[in-house]
Order: sequence, then structure tokens, then C-alpha cells
Amino acid sequence: MTWQPGRGPSEDPAISAQCREALDHLAELLDHAMAEPDAEVVRAHIETCEPCLEAADVEEHVRLLVRRACLSKAPDELRLRIVSQLTVRRIG
Ligand SMILES: [Zn+2]
Repeated sequence: MTWQPGRGPSEDPAISAQCREALDHLAELLDHAMAEPDAEVVRAHIETCEPCLEAADVEEHVRLLVRRACLSKAPDELRLRIVSQLTVRRIG
């Protein structure tokens, strides 16, 4: 296995910082709770960043499932189970 410097997820500080910020604001963004200039920055990053786009997709699915289950807020355990199920389905 060849190690490629700078290609690992934690090896690029610029990208991971942007991603961390986008993921930090993901819930706010989906709640439409973010103020516009900031929301636009995060949205623009997510649209051009595959891992963040995927994370946003999963988050939206979770919200949809939770809403469908008529819960205003999913318990952490249920939420984690849904997320891991979605993740497994995507990989397989
Ligand atoms: Zn990203």
C-alpha cells in the first residue's frame, strides 16, 4: 500500500477545516436557521465537496425518517442507528 502524503482526510488542514465548518453548520442550514451570507458559503462548499454533500444527504434522510415517525426530536440512539444503516447501505 502506497501512502500518498496530503491525500488523507486529516492530512489537508485547509480542506478539513472547511469541511468541519460546513458539517458544524449542517443542522442549522437544513433548519434554515442560518443567516444568509454564512448560509451561502456553507451551501456553496457542500455543493462542491463530495464528502460534505454525502453527509448533508444522510442528514436530510435522517430528518425525513424522523419526521415520518412523527417525532419532533429523535433520541440519539435511534438517530445513530438510522445514520449507520444509511451509511452501510451506501457502501454496499
Ligand atoms: Zn467538505
